[in-house]
Amino acid sequence: MGEETIFSKIAKGEIPATIVHEDDEVVAFRDISPKAPVHILVIPRRAIARIDAAAPGDAGLLGRLLLAARDVARREGLDKTGYRLVINNGADGGETVPHLHVHLLGGRAMGWPPG
Ligand code: AMP
Repeated sequence: MGEETIFSKIAKGEIPATIVHEDDEVVAFRDISPKAPVHILVIPRRAIARIDAAAPGDAGLLGRLLLAARDVARREGLDKTGYRLVINNGADGGETVPHLHVHLLGGRAMGWPPG
């Protein structure tokens, strides 16, 4: 189980965020420091620290996270132009908040490889 973070507080409604999707297991909200015209974070309500901490029993939840990201991308109109889903894991991955989150980035062309 992951630790209590700012993201678990957002999921519980204890800290404000611009929420764009909520269901029993998944919450999506706008990134406070957007790196693209659309930058949304999709998180499980349950505090899994990072993808490396996920267990085989989390497979269904991980699938729901990706499908929620896909649904939010469609609602934002990004399915027309394309978008990127990113999971940063650990220090070299650029992880700064130890609560698993999928970045949904869109609204501009993305470079590759990432810096
Ligand atoms: P990562 O570096 O992959 O761990 O991503 C963490 C992301 O959380 C960054 O893009 C931050 O801008 C974002 N972030 C941090 N605090 C908040 C917050 N209170 N509300 C929304 N996004 C946040």
